[in-house]
Amino acid sequence: MSELPGRTDVLVVGAGPVGLAVAASLAGDGHDVTVVDRQATGANTSRAAVVHARTLEMLERIGVSRRLAGLGIQASQFSIRDGDRELVPVRFDRLKTDYPYTLMVPQNITEQVLLDRLEELGGGVHRPYVATGLSQTTEGVEVALGSGDTIRAQYVVAADGMNSNIRDLAGLGYDGNGALPLSFTLADVRVDLSLPANQVLLFFSKPGMLVVAPLPDGSFRLVAEVDDAPEQPDVAYAQRLLDTRGPRRTRVNVSEVIWGSRFRIHERVADEYRSGRVLLAGDAAHTHSPAGGQGMNLGLRDAITLGEALSVALREGREDKLDEYAASCREEALHVVALAHRLTRLATAPPAVRPLRNVVLRLLAKVPAVRRGLAEQLSAIGHR
Ligand SMILES: Cc1cc2nc3c(=O)[nH]c(=O)nc-3n(C[C@H](O)[C@H](O)[C@H](O)COP(=O)(O)OP(=O)(O)OC[C@H]3O[C@@H](n4cnc5c(N)ncnc54)[C@H](O)[C@@H]3O)c2cc1C
Repeated sequence: MSELPGRTDVLVVGAGPVGLAVAASLAGDGHDVTVVDRQATGANTSRAAVVHARTLEMLERIGVSRRLAGLGIQASQFSIRDGDRELVPVRFDRLKTDYPYTLMVPQNITEQVLLDRLEELGGGVHRPYVATGLSQTTEGVEVALGSGDTIRAQYVVAADGMNSNIRDLAGLGYDGNGALPLSFTLADVRVDLSLPANQVLLFFSKPGMLVVAPLPDGSFRLVAEVDDAPEQPDVAYAQRLLDTRGPRRTRVNVSEVIWGSRFRIHERVADEYRSGRVLLAGDAAHTHSPAGGQGMNLGLRDAITLGEALSVALREGREDKLDEYAASCREEALHVVALAHRLTRLATAPPAVRPLRNVVLRLLAKVPAVRRGLAEQLSAIGHR
């Protein structure tokens, strides 16, 4: 990587998927963009494993959608089940889009594709540099780094994640619910018997919910709401989840847990996405339930919209485009947070209500408009 510059048009703080996508968008438009990240190397864990159709449509503008689509599993269907019985079939293959599926691809691969594209466009990431200070005037912003360096920029993008330092330094509030009283376990596992490789399954069983989603290396992602999630789920734990909540007719044996984690849900949206020359995007601007796999998708769509708005602001001095970005993407975030909240409540309904919920869902799913509406909301094709 070239030497850290003292000046740049746009400084992007954070090289997660969102920072990389904003930077690729700006570099592709010929702007001078600098990216810094506090970590010495990029993260290599799977984390967000879903990329939806609308996100792929938007990523086309930075030339990565086809590449990404070729590296993941194109899951044409999402199926809500109770044991072996299907309650709600959601068909992505009927969506009017060039990407009629939900793409299952681990976040580290998505980040690699975005980084490769940024490098092709002449950019890169400066590591490890932690942004620690910020001051702005009407002409520009100065960001101080932990290394003692400073960078002057016309605009700064805060893509530094949920605990964004830049957001706080810019004085932008980030209110909402603290952690919901729910605990989730997540495990990427290898199994002996093949589960459906082109479908995402969501089991609404009596003991609780379980997501089973295929990953491109042949493994499966399990996510379940549990009373007290272990720090690191082991094989026996993952096996119990499948035995008690998954398919009934066939027993699927877990042979390995490749990666595991646990999490709680926070629901927050920044009060505003813009403070003068500082713009928020991604988790720095919003965080919510992973139900429906929306978090990174929303962030990537922020990134493309923001990259284009900044490009116009730099070229034509049109700052109104930045306000437009801030208002429209914040509105979409409020919508997605509410959608993910409703899905979470549905998936984690109290045990006494679960049988009735399943009956109602089966009836509702007979209405084609309900099934289509669900596909359009999950894929965000309905947000166009
Ligand atoms: C275990 C786990 C599972 C998840 N599963 C899903 C899922 O299934 N679906 C989904 O949609 N989402 C999921 N997510 C969330 C998803 O990973 C995030 O939404 C996504 O990473 C947000 O991208 P981002 O670029 O905004 O922020 P991040 O990926 O958090 O990137 C922020 C970057 O900023 C850097 N940084 C932070 N502070 C500074 C600083 N002061 N100076 C310089 N650099 C800084 C960090 O090092 C980091 O690289 C999951 C997250 C986790 C942890």
